[in-house]
Amino acid sequence: MSINRKLSVRCPKCGAVSDITVWSSITADDSPDLKKDLLSGRINMFRCPDCEAVALMPEPMLYSDSVKKLMISFYPTNDPVQKQERYEQIIRSSKESGELKALDGWNLRFLTDHNELLEKLLIFENGLNDKAIEVIKLMILSQDPDKSESRICRFGKDDGNALEFMIHDFIENMIYTSSVPKDSYEQVYTSLIQSGMKPYSFDWEMVDASYATRLLNGFNNNF
Ligand SMILES: [Zn+2]
Repeated sequence: MSINRKLSVRCPKCGAVSDITVWSSITADDSPDLKKDLLSGRINMFRCPDCEAVALMPEPMLYSDSVKKLMISFYPTNDPVQKQERYEQIIRSSKESGELKALDGWNLRFLTDHNELLEKLLIFENGLNDKAIEVIKLMILSQDPDKSESRICRFGKDDGNALEFMIHDFIENMIYTSSVPKDSYEQVYTSLIQSGMKPYSFDWEMVDASYATRLLNGFNNNF
């Protein structure tokens, strides 16, 4: 069930007060329009009608899609300590409530970055596996190791033959694209599965660059 509440928000830029509907839960099954809004970054995003300033509302949100068997717990924060605490908390409470038993074969993701949320939705929407995508992103960034610290790579689109990635360089202030053949994705995915990676979750997971690094180190593959 999708759940919302209405708030009056003062614009951080011009001070004008306006109303916004914030969503704490979205289920894709009964709310296809909300899913569309979420994918286009319009959910829980404050837009001032007076000055058009934009700001993400600090609203935790649970997203679930029983068709894709995907559940995302989104907790917006930039604080790594808070991120870890919240992650441990959600693992604890899921264990206590026993809800994971009903989510056999699902992917459960915990994340705190709004762009990462949109990226994850897009990856699953395209029927791709985010663990394989994170490994490919590492491979793309490692092509230019001196610059990888100042770059963020995100999945962009799947055109059927190739996957397109966007690379944002914060120092050069440039956005590059990188195209990876779909066959290469399939090879990475197959290797990961053969190495023991599960295409579903046993518990909440943070699937990001450090996850992909652990995956590569742990499996010791020859990619
Ligand atoms: Zn404003």
